[in-house]
Amino acid sequence: MPDLSPAEFRRLGHQLVDWIATYLEHPEKYPVLARTKPGELVDALPAAGPEKGEPLDLALADFENVILPAVTHWNHPGFLAYFATSASAPGILAELLIAALNTNGILWKTSPAVTELEIVVLSWLRQWMGLPDDNFGIIFDTASTASLHAIAAAREMAAPEVRSTGRSHRTLVLYQSEHAHSSIEKAAIALGIGQENVRKIPADADFRMKIADLEHAIRRDLEAGRKPFCVVATVGTTSTTSIDPVREIARCAQHRGLWLHVDTAYAGSAAIAPEYQYILDGAEMADSLVLNPHKWMFTPVDCSVLYTRRPEMLKRAFSLMPEYLRTFEDTRMVNLMEYAIPLGRRFRALKLWFIMRAFGREGLAAIIKDQCAMAREFAAWVQSDDRFEVVAPVPLSVVCFRLRGSDEANMQLLDSINAQGEAYISHTVLHGRVVLRVAIGNIATTRATLKRLWKHLQEAPE
Ligand SMILES: *Cc1c(COP(=O)(O)O)cnc(C)c1O
Repeated sequence: MPDLSPAEFRRLGHQLVDWIATYLEHPEKYPVLARTKPGELVDALPAAGPEKGEPLDLALADFENVILPAVTHWNHPGFLAYFATSASAPGILAELLIAALNTNGILWKTSPAVTELEIVVLSWLRQWMGLPDDNFGIIFDTASTASLHAIAAAREMAAPEVRSTGRSHRTLVLYQSEHAHSSIEKAAIALGIGQENVRKIPADADFRMKIADLEHAIRRDLEAGRKPFCVVATVGTTSTTSIDPVREIARCAQHRGLWLHVDTAYAGSAAIAPEYQYILDGAEMADSLVLNPHKWMFTPVDCSVLYTRRPEMLKRAFSLMPEYLRTFEDTRMVNLMEYAIPLGRRFRALKLWFIMRAFGREGLAAIIKDQCAMAREFAAWVQSDDRFEVVAPVPLSVVCFRLRGSDEANMQLLDSINAQGEAYISHTVLHGRVVLRVAIGNIATTRATLKRLWKHLQEAPE
């Protein structure tokens, strides 16, 4: 059966664009957190696919009636859990074109625009963030994948024998703070570094890696005949958005000849605002850095950017050119598959380009600064009520706070807020105690959203 006719495509396409416009206008019509029970959607759908094709109108009706109730609305202004994100309209429109072109940038030749627009937007973004111009950029799906590549490049620099033999001469050791994201440890697992060889350096009272403890751990490993190879600093940790002392860590890494990877998946976007460029102080010395436009740059998932000042290490780690992919040589031609595990490459640069053009640097910086201001205001409300306490500094757009009381009381409060359907917040554990988190990052979140949440929080414990 041939594809939908152009007339059918137009009819359904217009209908969908209208649906999306209405949705983006009022996502708060839906409860932010899906009320589905595990297995409910599986049971509601047929166990086998249709033998014969059906009119797409039927699927659209089921989308509204069956699928949507099982959706948690990340584009809802009340989504304040984890790191709140949004798919902004320019990004959504770009995704439509990305799907339509269906280019696969495996090589420069297989679609020059995929490679060259990626070079251009990542150069723009690098300038906006104040990173040095010797940084090479490449887009991945997630920060987990980007950090895996960075750590593989670090291993290539320290132990090039692994690429061919699968083993390093000495045991390789990686350092991160106890507050680093789990993706770093997962990368160490995937690369055969081993969980035992990931050192989780203690953090200070403000949740920042203690540099003296880092130095001490490195010395101990050297004395034991192991080979320290990589330090990961986090700018914007997952629990509290704390900022590791990157400059001091960078000096230590440089002195010991270790690769420095900076994980700023969430916070990095804030450096677009000159007021927040300080968060990347010292990052100019990093060997690699990751940030996620799909977190705080209003880009639909997925889009994660890896910068590295040592692209030759990434290439040494992953370049493998089979005969059937060989093309001509040109000094201005880059084949991004030589720097990455995946051969295939989505045209993600197009959505970043749309977003950067539609908002401009000032537009993005203004939204980010306002969201940070909202977080400080929310923290001030919490501080003004004796029943609550703010439990971590608020450098960016996340507030960690708790009810002065038991962990159970805090979890009950969390559940009661999330059951109401207007806001979705999450929790973490700090110093062994349950803590609630309000993460502002959705483009539709306003002061009114937060005022309502604060009112519900104040009323709930009665
Ligand atoms: C969110 C986050 C990650 C993981 O991001 P993915 O893109 O989902 O892999 C890693 N590190 C930090 C600091 C994060 O905030």
